[in-house]
Amino acid sequence: MADIIQLLPDHVANQIAAGEVVQRPASVVKELLENAIDAEATLVKLIIKDAGKTLIQVIDNGDGMSTTDARLSFERHATSKIKTAEDLFQLHTKGFRGEALASIAAIAHVNLKTKQERDEVGTEITIEGSTIVSQEIVVTPKGTSVSVKNLFFNIPARRNFLKSNTVELRHVIDEFHRVALAHPKIHFTFYNNGSEMFNLPVSNYRQRIVNIFGAKTNEKLVPVEEATEVVKIVGFVGKPEFAKKTRGEQYFFVNERFIKSAYLNHAILSAFEGLIRPGAHPSYFLNLTVDPQSIDINIHPTKTEIKFNDEHTLYAILRSSVKHSLGQFNIAPVLDFEHDSSLDTPYTDIKSVVNTPKIEVDRNFNPFQESHSMKGQASSFKRPSSGHWDSLYIGLESKKITPQADFKDMHIEGEEAASSLFEAEASVEQDHKTYQFHNKYIISAIKSGLLVIDQFRAHQRILYEEFLKNLTVKEGVSQQLLFPLQIHLSTPEVEIIKQLKEDLEHTGFVFSSISDELIEIMGVPLNVPESEVSIILEQLINDVQHEVPEASFSAIDLLAKSMAKSLAIKAGQPLKKDEQEYIVNKLFACKEPNVTPSNRLTFVTVGIDELDKKFI
Ligand code: ADP
Ligand code: MG
Repeated sequence: MADIIQLLPDHVANQIAAGEVVQRPASVVKELLENAIDAEATLVKLIIKDAGKTLIQVIDNGDGMSTTDARLSFERHATSKIKTAEDLFQLHTKGFRGEALASIAAIAHVNLKTKQERDEVGTEITIEGSTIVSQEIVVTPKGTSVSVKNLFFNIPARRNFLKSNTVELRHVIDEFHRVALAHPKIHFTFYNNGSEMFNLPVSNYRQRIVNIFGAKTNEKLVPVEEATEVVKIVGFVGKPEFAKKTRGEQYFFVNERFIKSAYLNHAILSAFEGLIRPGAHPSYFLNLTVDPQSIDINIHPTKTEIKFNDEHTLYAILRSSVKHSLGQFNIAPVLDFEHDSSLDTPYTDIKSVVNTPKIEVDRNFNPFQESHSMKGQASSFKRPSSGHWDSLYIGLESKKITPQADFKDMHIEGEEAASSLFEAEASVEQDHKTYQFHNKYIISAIKSGLLVIDQFRAHQRILYEEFLKNLTVKEGVSQQLLFPLQIHLSTPEVEIIKQLKEDLEHTGFVFSSISDELIEIMGVPLNVPESEVSIILEQLINDVQHEVPEASFSAIDLLAKSMAKSLAIKAGQPLKKDEQEYIVNKLFACKEPNVTPSNRLTFVTVGIDELDKKFI
């Protein structure tokens, strides 16, 4: 057989390499910002359009390049930053692979303008899909401007793979944050579709954090400082009471490079142990300076993971210095959270679980018999006169809920509501035969056996369909707040709220104002307790950031899902009889009662034959 191996042409090799370096607009942003920093710029301007899909431009006032270097910079493995493999262990720059510009130029339309201080004129190069289109002499200030247009123009599959602008913008902002946080001594500006999103003047570290995440952040920060032979730590952790339900602002920088490390994250968590609720996430902004020889940053192509020589020592130092700071700044004693009512909430559930068994009720319950005494008993249950559950029963007073009654007018595509499977059961439910088990499951009898409903999941399904309906027919009912509710958020978080504003309004939210870092709410959806509003929005923002909605329909879907998840009654919540019935009836009035919005079972059945078998 003839020889079949051949070397790939450069432009093909570059496209393949680009796949590793450039996943999305944010990857380009990162590479260009890092190049500007490596060029010792003191002023860096980022301009994007359509979340970077149409344009990404970075302008810096750094060293610039000579004409030859400008041309060479687009070659693969062309770098001014290392010369030998040993240099890898003495790195003081972000870049070193010499791949970024070559990769970007392989998959986009790139224009470079650059000039060094000593030169009269600069160089302009236009390159499209690795082909140089033009090279000219240009009048331009000292520094470099790189503009990247039409990303993935020659790889439609990759272009189609990009997410919605909301999601891509989120990624761009994340990268921008990471770079800007690592370099408070550089002035950054960021323009999105012509409007200024960030203007971060040269400042100290605390101010940089505040400029990014909002003025309210200032009072939340506790300084951390430690200098040992192995590592120097400088930065801040968030006070425990501001720990978030969702993973929020968590930043490690090692030698001014953003890194991710589950192991070091754990060190911080363990320092917060006992100070925050289980599952809460403290914020941190920590800069670690170590000897470049003691790390290997070469293990990951996009370089957010690094290998430390002595991870265990680092873990111990980090943990103890954070603990020390929390103690020193008098955080720990103040936060005796056993007695802090604002933090008690999650524990009440646990406590009530302890009181669970209500045996009196159990004894009368026989799911296999039509017990009329039971029926009488159930209907004599009083409606709760206080507590936030009340609101759920508005409407129940006047009309008896029958399956589907509430959803007649629901304009969502799909099959007929409620599966016929449960028609028979529904009639049984009217007999109020429900029983709550472990404050977690609702058990009800059906003709063929037993029905075990997960209360949290069932309620998620119910709320989800309700919200979805409100969002689709745009008629969520609002309850007016006596005093407007102010919620402080960071600029990017506000950006997400702005994008979802209209949909949120359809669920019943009424916004009186939305500014850079503050939103003011005058009305909330019916059934949403005021105290839950900020948690819901926080959860929602997090979901948007992580669950990646692509089309507008899925944004609505995500909103409905997220709110349902936040508001559904949790396991551990004792339910009165009529509350249990409400869940059962409402669940089976749903279009898809069997599963939660995220496709998990809401109930299981135990057939009478299965039970019979057990008694053989
Ligand atoms: P790397 O950063 O890994 O060296 P790049 O492809 O990002 O590789 O850049 C190639 C080279 O081009 C850099 O080593 C640097 O010399 C030069 N360069 C890129 N961007 C700039 C810039 N903004 N200012 C000055 N020089 C730059
Ligand atoms: Mg680079």
